Amino acid sequence: MTEPAAAAKGPVKDEHIMGVYKRAPLAFERGEGVHLYTGDGEEYLDCMAGIAVNALGHSHPALVKALKEQGEKLWHVSNIFRIPGQEVLAKKLCDHSFADVAFFTNSGTEAIELAIKTARKYHYDKGQPERIDIIGFEGSFHGRSLAAVQASGNKAYTDGFGPVVGYVNLPYDDLEAVKAAVGPTTAAIMIEPVQGEGGARSAADCYLRALRQICDQTGTLLIYDEVQCGLGRTGKLFAYEWAGAEPDIMTLAKALGGGFPVGVLLATREAASGMTVGTHGSTYGGNPLAMAVGNAAVDELLKPELKQHVNDVAGYFVQQLQGLKARYPDVIDDVRGKGLLIGVKLKTPNRAFMQHARDAHLLIAGGGDNCIRFLPPLIITESEAREALARFETACQAAQKDAGK
Ligand SMILES: *Cc1c(COP(=O)(O)O)cnc(C)c1O
Repeated sequence: MTEPAAAAKGPVKDEHIMGVYKRAPLAFERGEGVHLYTGDGEEYLDCMAGIAVNALGHSHPALVKALKEQGEKLWHVSNIFRIPGQEVLAKKLCDHSFADVAFFTNSGTEAIELAIKTARKYHYDKGQPERIDIIGFEGSFHGRSLAAVQASGNKAYTDGFGPVVGYVNLPYDDLEAVKAAVGPTTAAIMIEPVQGEGGARSAADCYLRALRQICDQTGTLLIYDEVQCGLGRTGKLFAYEWAGAEPDIMTLAKALGGGFPVGVLLATREAASGMTVGTHGSTYGGNPLAMAVGNAAVDELLKPELKQHVNDVAGYFVQQLQGLKARYPDVIDDVRGKGLLIGVKLKTPNRAFMQHARDAHLLIAGGGDNCIRFLPPLIITESEAREALARFETACQAAQKDAGK
């Protein structure tokens, strides 16, 4: 047995791990499709997919094949050379979106950092260096770098890390607040078309269209963070397609590598016009190994039948969850979200609920506003969804008991 495999079966020994996570006492050894297995062979149904990352489930044959084949050829060179895999993946993403150009990163956060840099540099080059402010929204999540936490405006993440400069935080889905806030120092508006960590809140289509209009009228750039809601999760390739309002800049990650760390910034040629030679870079971003897996993942995610499947299974989930809401009115408050980014707002504490779900061998994600989220692999079948909902109901019964009802 290798050392990590042996450690997974022994007692927790995390004294050398920085204590920024309150981890569930579970270690998985392998995964297949929507199932995860511990070292002891216990099966769990995975409806969080590593926070919307394992969109194709675990050990998807196309991803394993791409990783193995590339792993034996070439892992890494440097962005000072051509990387053909980048050229192919960038074309695929641009052909299927509003964008003209792409830059590959290692994570969603890095794509967000680059989005902010791109927006500021755009205005700087247009002779308006004072336009540095990013307007963000309550309940948003853009990652954990200094710029990303400041853009999200979540005080739990910004307090203790220095002054917040160049960011404005507004309520989600409040058009008047945006109109009042956009001014001569505004560089960009940054929004998740469907909030992930904030609790699966979906912006109204007309709201996104109105943001687009405000941006057009004021020369402000519109940035969509689709790191979580993009790449098929909502039942369209990109969540913004529901509203038909295109951004100038968009970030993707999570599902892009299906578990291999890779993100991307997409932009129109105009919005990216300030990003000239030497203004940005990355050692690892878009290396051949990442591109092999990214290309394989995107090929799967682009299949039209997957879109239909997501819409069908999501419809089933929501219909069943509405039924559970009627049966457990003391536990479930609201069902929301879009596609397979489903939020269930609870009346009982969500942390305790997630433990009840784990006790029933169901993995679900938490979220803001006392939500839990279903973020299953997009390939989840209806019968697997039925099993997930049965386990979810077991957790509802336990939560109802907690509530003394
Ligand atoms: C996860 C997430 C990020 C951050 O991505 P990392 O890969 O963790 O850096 C940014 N934005 C949204 C909407 C996310 O869900």
